Amino acid sequence: MMIGRTSDLILVAGGAGFIGTHLCTALLEAGHDVLCIDNLQTARTANIELLEEYPNFSFIEADITEPLPRAVLSHAPRISRIYNLACAASPPRYQANPEHTMLTNVIGTSALLQLAELSGARFLLSSTSEVYGDPEHHPQREDYRGWVSCIGPRACYDEGKRAAEAITFDYARLGRADVRVARIFNTYGPRMHPDDGRVVSNLICQALSGQPITIYGDGTQTRSFCYVSDLVDGLIRLMESEMDGTQPVNLGNPEELTVRELAEMVRDIVGAPDDITFMPLPQDDPRRRRPDISRAQEWLGWSPTVRVRDGVERTCAWFAADLDLAKATPEAVAAE
Ligand code: UDP
Repeated sequence: MMIGRTSDLILVAGGAGFIGTHLCTALLEAGHDVLCIDNLQTARTANIELLEEYPNFSFIEADITEPLPRAVLSHAPRISRIYNLACAASPPRYQANPEHTMLTNVIGTSALLQLAELSGARFLLSSTSEVYGDPEHHPQREDYRGWVSCIGPRACYDEGKRAAEAITFDYARLGRADVRVARIFNTYGPRMHPDDGRVVSNLICQALSGQPITIYGDGTQTRSFCYVSDLVDGLIRLMESEMDGTQPVNLGNPEELTVRELAEMVRDIVGAPDDITFMPLPQDDPRRRRPDISRAQEWLGWSPTVRVRDGVERTCAWFAADLDLAKATPEAVAAE
């Protein structure tokens, strides 16, 4: 999908993270100039190296909780689109520095909205299914206001994203920026960080390396898993749609699994033994989660195309190759 003039510049904040690198790749492949800013908090170095192979890619290391560097601001006249994907998204990562997580969403989103206003760029916020908290309504529709704890360990992320949505919609209401808000549900695929701490990467890495699979709680909690290429397609469609930007849109795959079912699927694909360690359920862990995607289907003509089993197979194959590669590094050889 072509976006405006190809001489325009697309800024991707958080472009070195998991979803960010896939988004950057799709935009670069479509011929766009892409400027990635990232603080490298959760990035895989290999992801940046892949992007740096494109001549139309540039990278500036920056943390959006700090004033944006001059090198970024100087591009303002050319920036036509801003994707804000900057924020650690896995519970152990975003809880490691909760104040930073909150400020990334509040101060960082505000800084990028100011840049959107200055440059006249359209702005897309990557929000989250976490705005629904531990939902009482199932599946979750965009008009459900959620059940979020504002005092628990997830609040820095959940409330941070809710605040980021609030300021984004305020910019739209005040006519200061043209905005889009995606509420992203659990997403997985190649290029995830093996130490990300999320369920898909944990289970696959454990099964591949012969360690017991860790299930938190009894494994009856559910999630709905979207393959990353589907998600990126949804993000670009949302950014480029001429829909009313004053409403959020759920992006996720409604195929819902219990964590136990996911563990069995991974074990089956990898051929790992039935070796499970049950661990305590983290505080405020949502019991179930599935997106209602009628809005995305109707407004964007978007639906996921990759079945969970196929996507998990592809992700297992990628991790298997990546772990082999890691074993073959000079450091690993020297350590043996
Ligand atoms: N989980 C698990 N084992 C793990 C990691 C996570 O059972 O090794 C559970 C976690 O408690 C949650 C679900 O898997 O119920 C999804 O967790 P994840 O961290 O991937 O994302 P969340 O949707 O909670 O943000």
